[in-house]
Amino acid sequence: MTGAAAFLDRVAAFAAGPVRAGAPGWSMGESPAPDLFTEAARIGLLSMSIPPEHGGAGFGFATLARACELLAAEDFGLAMALVNTHNVALRLCRSAPPDLVARHLPGLLSGEVAACTALTEPGAGSGFAAIAARAEPEDGAWCLSGEKTWIINARRAGLAIVFAHCGTPAGARSIGGFAVDLGLPGVTHHPVDSAFAQGAMGTGRLVFERTPLPSGALILPPGSAFKSIMTELNAARTYVAAMCNAMTGAALAEAATYGSERHSFGRPLAAHQAWRMPLTEAETDLAASRALTTQAVAEVGAGGDAQLSAARAKIAATDCAVRHLPRLLHAMGAEGLRPERCFTRHLAAAQIASLTDGATTMLRERVARLTLPCTDQTTAKTTDQTRE
Ligand SMILES: Cc1cc2nc3c(=O)[nH]c(=O)nc-3n(C[C@H](O)[C@H](O)[C@H](O)COP(=O)(O)OP(=O)(O)OC[C@H]3O[C@@H](n4cnc5c(N)ncnc54)[C@H](O)[C@@H]3O)c2cc1C
Repeated sequence: MTGAAAFLDRVAAFAAGPVRAGAPGWSMGESPAPDLFTEAARIGLLSMSIPPEHGGAGFGFATLARACELLAAEDFGLAMALVNTHNVALRLCRSAPPDLVARHLPGLLSGEVAACTALTEPGAGSGFAAIAARAEPEDGAWCLSGEKTWIINARRAGLAIVFAHCGTPAGARSIGGFAVDLGLPGVTHHPVDSAFAQGAMGTGRLVFERTPLPSGALILPPGSAFKSIMTELNAARTYVAAMCNAMTGAALAEAATYGSERHSFGRPLAAHQAWRMPLTEAETDLAASRALTTQAVAEVGAGGDAQLSAARAKIAATDCAVRHLPRLLHAMGAEGLRPERCFTRHLAAAQIASLTDGATTMLRERVARLTLPCTDQTTAKTTDQTRE
């Protein structure tokens, strides 16, 4: 068995064990115990694509996407929490100076410190270039002020990659990415509560009031930061697509099993043709969605320009999940509403997935721009300035 195959076996066991056991509670607003994150680290989930010279396994993107899929079949929120910390660790290895890597990497890889990537603000979501956060140069260092919201892991994170204008805002050109120690003066954490509870995701808001940052904190300088985040978003869209497929697949399997056991009018539910139809429609759409995701995984893994395949995959997978999860829930009757079942949890997650890492509406704009002749310069400009 290869290293990647053995790793994925461990992830499957972790998903079927503590993740499955904890997920119903997290969907009702509870948070995972801290030792769940150290256990995730122990099996390699926080270091899967970290280069071996930094203590990771160096697995490729296909393995990362498969690990995300296995976790999301049980709990999308936990999968997102783990992969977001992992991605910050990877970003540090690629872009941060050695002293910063040495200070933060051990905590991230051991699961003791969570991390987040903070782009969204109360006044700027899809139109990322409109962010207001600013880092002013001061005595050879930086002073950060601003607010970030709807940030995965922000409740418990110790480190964030924060995107802010460096000095006077000049659209996307002035945006840089800072590695910010969230224990610094002037930083406050706030929960973001939602009826769509995904307790494992730890979503929160961060406020920075004249937070002093060392000069080395600017790990993604203006010019490269925007491009870098766009490239990362293609990967994120692709693993989110894989996660949505996993949720639809899990719900389909659960409904199919239930339909063979539960009887109505003297026959199993699955023996009623009208009951089976929504399941077969879900199965067909899911197969089509998986094909697009497979293509995107291959393109992201090969390191080429994956913006079109990633956008298509995420559109197809979130649409498939958002369309079919309510119908699969309906096929379960009242039983589908119980938190021990996956349906309500995955339904909430699918709605969230349609917003994170590029809202589906904006991705449709992206596909239009890449595939249709566009004579409307206003539209072209708008899509250039969004995070999509
Ligand atoms: C649970 C959760 C976790 C998140 N985690 C993170 C995180 O870790 N880090 C982070 O930075 N952000 C995070 N986000 C924020 C997410 O990226 C944003 O919600 C997303 O970018 C959309 O921004 P918005 O919510 O401000 O919507 P808006 O930009 O206000 O848009 C509202 C609606 O209008 C649509 N819309 C906007 N502009 C156009 C247009 N030009 N044409 C057509 N339609 C348009 C959008 O698609 C959307 O449907 C998270 C969000 C959620 C819900």
